[in-house]
Amino acid sequence: MSLLSIIVPCYNEEENVPYFYDELMKLSNFFEEKELEVEVIYVNDGSKDKTVEAVRELHEKDERVHLISFSRNFGKEAAIYAGLQKAKGDYAVLMDADLQDPPALLPDMFAYIEQGYDSVATRRVSRKGEPKIRSFFARRFYGLMRRISKTEIVDGARDYRLMSRQVVDAILSLSEYNRFTKGIFGWVGYETKWLEYENVERVKGETKWSFWKLLIYSMEGIMAFSTVPLALASIFGILFCVLAFVMTVFIVVRAAIFGDPVAGWPSLVSVILVIGGVQLFCMGVLGQYLAKTYMEVKKRPIYLIKEEL
Ligand code: UDP
Ligand code: MG
Repeated sequence: MSLLSIIVPCYNEEENVPYFYDELMKLSNFFEEKELEVEVIYVNDGSKDKTVEAVRELHEKDERVHLISFSRNFGKEAAIYAGLQKAKGDYAVLMDADLQDPPALLPDMFAYIEQGYDSVATRRVSRKGEPKIRSFFARRFYGLMRRISKTEIVDGARDYRLMSRQVVDAILSLSEYNRFTKGIFGWVGYETKWLEYENVERVKGETKWSFWKLLIYSMEGIMAFSTVPLALASIFGILFCVLAFVMTVFIVVRAAIFGDPVAGWPSLVSVILVIGGVQLFCMGVLGQYLAKTYMEVKKRPIYLIKEEL
């Protein structure tokens, strides 16, 4: 018998917790057939509703259901990390509580693991049911990432992923504080099979990602997996040095030939404004990386547990 750990990050998912369990149990035949034992690890990421109670209820009637409950909301990335740490399985799979990661796909995914793949990942090929601007910016983000980061980050990739023990251990060995899981998966490598499916809308409750949360998340992704913005700052610097040199020569020569009637206040002001702006921008970029470094250096725990079952 081998053990499959199913990790489910939950943030205000009281309605979805039992629903997810029921859907999963529809796969009982498949688990039996493949001689798979399962453990379901619900990670309560500081929910404000009755998520913990819902999981406790399940735990009482089925001891394969486990709970990790955080002391506050630490974010999905932390929940994934905590779940993987607790997972004892020979295989582990990450799934959203809202059933946007259809459990029905598991048998297909497992078939590829049996074929020898180290991990099986999923991506949605459509963004049906998602606001148009969100899709637009998501596409831009992945396009940008492809260009500025060496780590492969796949467009439409979900966190829905089945992994062997080896991959789980590899992911756990990356104990950084600023976790961008989509990048971490790419970074660790291993043989990955990609499965595609149509977007499924969440069954109950609402998405926890506002546009701003996603924007900040994407900036964190860029900073965690690329130093191109820092290089960009240097490039701006070089560009302006060259420009300054050319301008100086031009102004000196002009003054020598035509004299120096005091004029040109508007051009002076525009130059100061532009350079000032670029300087502040570059300092901001630098500051962002410094802030990330600061948080890393503190070595704070990624999450704190309040309760475990
Ligand atoms: N989630 C979490 N912590 C958070 C936000 C979300 O654990 O701070 C969980 C959430 O409960 C769900 C999964 O992450 O199981 C995906 O969240 P959501 O469905 O809101 O994102 P979307 O599918 O809209 O991208
Ligand atoms: Mg969802």
